[in-house]
Amino acid sequence: MLEGLDPEQREVATALHGPVCVLAGAGTGKTRAITHRIAYGVRAGILQPSSVLAVTFTNRAAGEMRGRLRQLGAQGVQARTFHSAALRQLQYFWPKAIGGSLPRIIDRKIQLVADAAAALGTRLDRNELRDVTAEIEWSKVTQTVPADYPYAAAKAGRETPRDPAEIAHLYAAYEDLKRDRAVIDFEDVLLLTVAILQDRHDIAEQVRAQYQHFVVDEYQDVSPLQQRLLDLWLGDRDNLCVVGDASQTIYSFTGATPDHLLDFRVRHPAATVVKLVRDYRSTPQVVHLANALLSQARGRAADHRLELVSQRPPGPEPAYTEYTDEPAEAEGAARRIRELIDAGVPAAEIAVLFRTNSQSETYEQALADAGVPYQLRGAERFFDRPEIRKARIALRGAARFGGNDSLLDDAVDLPSQVRAVLSGEGWTSEPPAGSGAVRERWESLAALVNLAHDLAAARPRATLADFVTELEERANAQHAPTVQGVTLASLHAAKGLEWDVVFLVGIAEGMLPITYARTDEQIEEERRLLYVGVTRARERLHLSWALSRSPGGRPNRRPSRFLDGLRPGTTPTVGRTGAGASGGVERGITASAATTPRRIQRTPARCRVCGRTLTDAGEMKLMRCADCPSDMDEGLYERLREWRAVQAE
Ligand code: ATP
Ligand code: MG
Repeated sequence: MLEGLDPEQREVATALHGPVCVLAGAGTGKTRAITHRIAYGVRAGILQPSSVLAVTFTNRAAGEMRGRLRQLGAQGVQARTFHSAALRQLQYFWPKAIGGSLPRIIDRKIQLVADAAAALGTRLDRNELRDVTAEIEWSKVTQTVPADYPYAAAKAGRETPRDPAEIAHLYAAYEDLKRDRAVIDFEDVLLLTVAILQDRHDIAEQVRAQYQHFVVDEYQDVSPLQQRLLDLWLGDRDNLCVVGDASQTIYSFTGATPDHLLDFRVRHPAATVVKLVRDYRSTPQVVHLANALLSQARGRAADHRLELVSQRPPGPEPAYTEYTDEPAEAEGAARRIRELIDAGVPAAEIAVLFRTNSQSETYEQALADAGVPYQLRGAERFFDRPEIRKARIALRGAARFGGNDSLLDDAVDLPSQVRAVLSGEGWTSEPPAGSGAVRERWESLAALVNLAHDLAAARPRATLADFVTELEERANAQHAPTVQGVTLASLHAAKGLEWDVVFLVGIAEGMLPITYARTDEQIEEERRLLYVGVTRARERLHLSWALSRSPGGRPNRRPSRFLDGLRPGTTPTVGRTGAGASGGVERGITASAATTPRRIQRTPARCRVCGRTLTDAGEMKLMRCADCPSDMDEGLYERLREWRAVQAE
């Protein structure tokens, strides 16, 4: 279990008692270290699988971790996102804590905001509607109640789409409407779980009895609300291992700050702190670019950056390409991807990453035109996709009654049988001509056929019934099969993942940094997004931008300022961001020197409401001084009372 880990990773894997914090750059094996840690603890009999809760950031990452744990012989460990872990607890405890069963969770929040606006007689255009919805989301994740919105928004320097008092009214009306319709939203899942655990000590104790050991990946992006949930799960215990990279903080808009990571030692003075600097993911060329990019960064995260040292053989230099317009950029990328696939690179090992989801369509079209398979969401929620649900029902039916089905009679081997059942559902062997959802549906069903091939290769006598069992097991473990195809994803969705070849597209001013990033802090977050993008590549990195949006348009764009000084023939832009901020790199930890874990220096804990330095241990635990009111408690209890009243009716 400890083989395949370097000395520092091994230290992480074997320090199974007390708090542990791993501070390390991208690709240094943080996720690997914690996965092996859990597997080691389980296999050594020190950890009970069902008492471990591993929290990751996306469903895809959680699914990958479960898959790895299974391979390492540690089944039964809960690896979930904060959201899915909370949802499970909420579903279970709702009847006891509130009464009745958990209300429906709405997926079209924007419609409810529109209804709330209509109820108030406020007219919002489409953009305002979207922006107001974003403000409501921000308020909820930062634990701001409607009445406090104007104050909180001003303090956070938010650009509000409407008068702040008006947004506060809309937010309140939205909450009322939700309650009247007996529905909850995505953010309520965390909020209500926190409220119940705080309100009902018996329930909190029940959860604590279940989970003894906590591991959190991507800890730099934990929001205050998620931190609070974690504190409630822990109670007064400290069997917690967190890993993160302050330079990859990219979710500030949800209230996330790297302070929780960087101040871990302040809250847990006994913590073992380990730093990893060996980069196992990327070539020296990619690592050099990542280090150079961070050397221009400013702010607290940048003050703690670690210089990465690549452990891989050299590869090609990153390629920079300028195009006249966006469609030409997409075509250029699609052409190169076609060439790579023709040269034998698997499509699943290639990704195209962009800043905003609206950029995706141009690339979908260009890839479809070039005959390149692609997937938009990766393995995320694979088993929840409607086409997969339908296919499973059909496959179950065929496995049970298959003998009488003439379709199956013509098919001895398993892949043909699966293909036959899926064609009954309208699936064709050849991919459809179009792009978008149709194409994606096709790709996910094709993944089932590939899985049938894999199963038949591993077990030549496997039947359709065996295939159905395999699918059930995978669905229970949320272990999605690999969907073949180039991944199209936003930079935010790409965190934690890696591909042999990565295309970073739209690296132009106005796109990255995006137009609405104005303050120094926002610009720095955009730079970190680029850092996340660069460090996704194992071998090859292509960066590109277009001088205008559409063909024949005026060339009014220039390459991103972040590339100044990095691409050949340019010099760094000085003084654009972070005036006055210090930016020393923590150098000197080279691969050979890093044989003992490093201890970080203590930094003072600060109140997360007023920023005052904290000295009291109790205050430090809450990261809030006693004078500052708990911003959310009243709001949370109010909500619980309301829900109880609704259920009582
Ligand atoms: P990120 O910050 O992007 O989440 P990470 O620090 O979590 O990155 P991992 O994803 O765990 O890094 O590892 C990066 C790659 O390096 C993976 O392919 C992993 O298998 C490989 N790797 C990690 N540690 C080792 C090691 N000791 N020996 C060989 N390969 C390793
Ligand atoms: Mg990781």
